[in-house]
Amino acid sequence: MQYVGTVIRPPSEANSIILQVTVGCSHNKCTFCGAYKDLRFAVKDYDTILQDIHFAADYCQRQNRLFLADGDAMILPYTLLARIMEDIHRHLPWVNRVSMYANARSIRAKSDTELRHLKSSGVDRIYLGVESGDDATLKAIKKEETSQSIKEACERIIEHGFFLSTTIILGITGKKRSQIHAEKSAALLNEISPHQIGALTYMPLANTSLGKEVANGSFQLLSAREILAELKTLIRNLSCKKTQFMANHASNYLPITGRLPKDKMEFIDLISQAEQGLVGLKSDLLRAL
Ligand code: SF4
Repeated sequence: MQYVGTVIRPPSEANSIILQVTVGCSHNKCTFCGAYKDLRFAVKDYDTILQDIHFAADYCQRQNRLFLADGDAMILPYTLLARIMEDIHRHLPWVNRVSMYANARSIRAKSDTELRHLKSSGVDRIYLGVESGDDATLKAIKKEETSQSIKEACERIIEHGFFLSTTIILGITGKKRSQIHAEKSAALLNEISPHQIGALTYMPLANTSLGKEVANGSFQLLSAREILAELKTLIRNLSCKKTQFMANHASNYLPITGRLPKDKMEFIDLISQAEQGLVGLKSDLLRAL
């Protein structure tokens, strides 16, 4: 595969064929995100994409899932995405799940007809970084979306039958708005009712503007205890119907995974035990992005 830069994929795509169709992220402004800072967003040329599909046809016959990288493959024009899907089906007929990252802007750029055709062409799972339901936090991290615009994009994803996986970032707003961030994130997720919610914990990266604020002391990181309190408020306020909840990312202090609402009280009990020191937390040395 002819990858450019570091290719990032969601944890649940660990066993997928990673087909890089764009390089970087078309937004690339989020203050916490260092994933593509050194890369200029580009669409890969079709010959390279096709060569990679042929490579996968020869060497990836045991992988039946495929992830379209990088940061927001959904930003590709519909005609190009449709052509990629046709070639995936033609050359990799065993692939039965195609996923990609999207953001609210790339969903807005697609008509209902285009989304419907993408779904019927085999795009199944969309990962969207909600990050927060708090507009002040979204503004501070330069997401350039509001809770309303994210909600509208997510509702369209679900309406068109895609599996929607969302992400919230614990600790992203610092100490002052921590509880507001948790409450408003839960409120937004309740309105969206995604199929999956992943909670990561913010870790500063030196090549980002937020990382520089952490280094110069203008942004104070939450302690592990404060992260637990934020997570507890988030879970306590979640009332989505049937959602898979995962806070088992390498960045998290306390791995939690299960289903909501079924496991809600179990999650809250576990966090309470961790707050009392009865359950161990991951050390900062072992946390990673
Ligand atoms: S968080 Fe997502 S949308 Fe924001 S810069 Fe990173 S890849 Fe792009």
